[in-house]
Amino acid sequence: KAAGRNTWRFFSPEMQQRVLAHAALAQDIRVGLQRGEFLLHYQLQMSAADLVIGAEALLRWQHPERGGISPGEFIPVAEDTGLILPLGQWVLESACQELARWGQDSRSSHLTLAVNISVMQFRQPDFAERVEAALKQHGADPARLKLEITESLLLDDDEMEDTISKMTRLQAQGVSFSLDDFGTGYSSLAYLKKLPLDQLKIDQSFVRDLLTDPQDCDIARTIISLAQSMKLSVIAEGVELPEQKQRLADFGCMAYQGYLFGRPMPVEELLPLLEAPRVRP
Ligand code: C2E
Ligand code: MG
Ligand code: MG
Ligand code: MG
Repeated sequence: KAAGRNTWRFFSPEMQQRVLAHAALAQDIRVGLQRGEFLLHYQLQMSAADLVIGAEALLRWQHPERGGISPGEFIPVAEDTGLILPLGQWVLESACQELARWGQDSRSSHLTLAVNISVMQFRQPDFAERVEAALKQHGADPARLKLEITESLLLDDDEMEDTISKMTRLQAQGVSFSLDDFGTGYSSLAYLKKLPLDQLKIDQSFVRDLLTDPQDCDIARTIISLAQSMKLSVIAEGVELPEQKQRLADFGCMAYQGYLFGRPMPVEELLPLLEAPRVRP
C-alpha cells in the first residue's frame, strides 16, 4: 500500500510468510530424518473374497512439537526442496527391511508391500540400482515389492524410454508396478499401453461418490474394464462402505483398500490381524 496504487509487489506478506513456513518445515524434515522422527504405517489391501493380499506403506511424521504431521502437508515441501530423495530412500530401505521380516513370518509371508515413489525419486539415474540394493541389503523378496508410481511420470515424451527401461529392469527381477491415483492425471492410452505396468489403482475421488454420482460410477467402471482389456489388475482405494465394495465388485474389480478394511496402522497392529495360514495335516 505504501508504494501507492497500481503497484505490484512480487511477494505479498502472505506469500513471504508461506515461503518462511515452508523453509522452516524443510529444516524440520532434515532434522527429523536424522532424529528418526519418521515411521511407516501400513494399510491392508484385500481381495474380492476379503482375504488380505498385501499392504501399502504410508509415511508418518511424529514432530516433537507439532505432533503428527500428515504427508499431504510435508511431502509437497519435501518434493519442492529435494528432500524427498533422502526421505524416499529412507522409506524404500525401511519398507524392504519390513518386507524381509514379513517373509520370515508365516502370517505375512504371502503379502505384497506397496511403496509410494515420487517422480523425482524415480528420475534418479540409479533408481533401479537403489531398489535392487535395498532389497538385497535386507534379503527381501523382489516379487513381494510393488512400487506405486503416478501418471506425472508419463508427461514428458523424452522420458518415456528411460522410464520403460527402469521398469523393465526391475520387473525382470519380480518387482511390480501400480499406477496410483489413476484417472486424475494426463496419461494417454498410447503411453499407458507402452508401460510395463501390473496394476491400475483407481483414485479415491472416483470411489467417494460412487453410489450417488453416476459420472464417477461410469469412470470407475470404465477404468476397471480398461484394466481388464489391458490385462492389468485393478485396485480401488478409499473404499469406506460395503456398498462401494459391492458396486466395484459387480464391475469386476479384484482388489480393495480403504477404511472399510482398516486405517493405516503400525505394523504391531497389522500382524495380529492376519490369520496364520492353516497347516496341512
Ligand atoms: P496415496 O498413495 O494415494 O495414499 C492413499 C491415501 O488415502 C493415504 O493418505 C490413506 O491414508 C488415505 N486413505 C486410505 N483409505 C482411505 C479411505 O477409505 N478414505 C479416505 N478418505 N482416505 C483413505 P495419507 O497416508 O495421508 O497419504 C497421502 C498421500 O501422501 C499418499 O496418497 C501419497 O501420495 C503420499 N505419500 C504417503 N506416503 C508416502 C511415501 O512414503 N512416499 C511418497 N513419495 N509419497 C507418500
Ligand atoms: Mg499410494
Ligand atoms: Mg492414491
Ligand atoms: Mg493420493
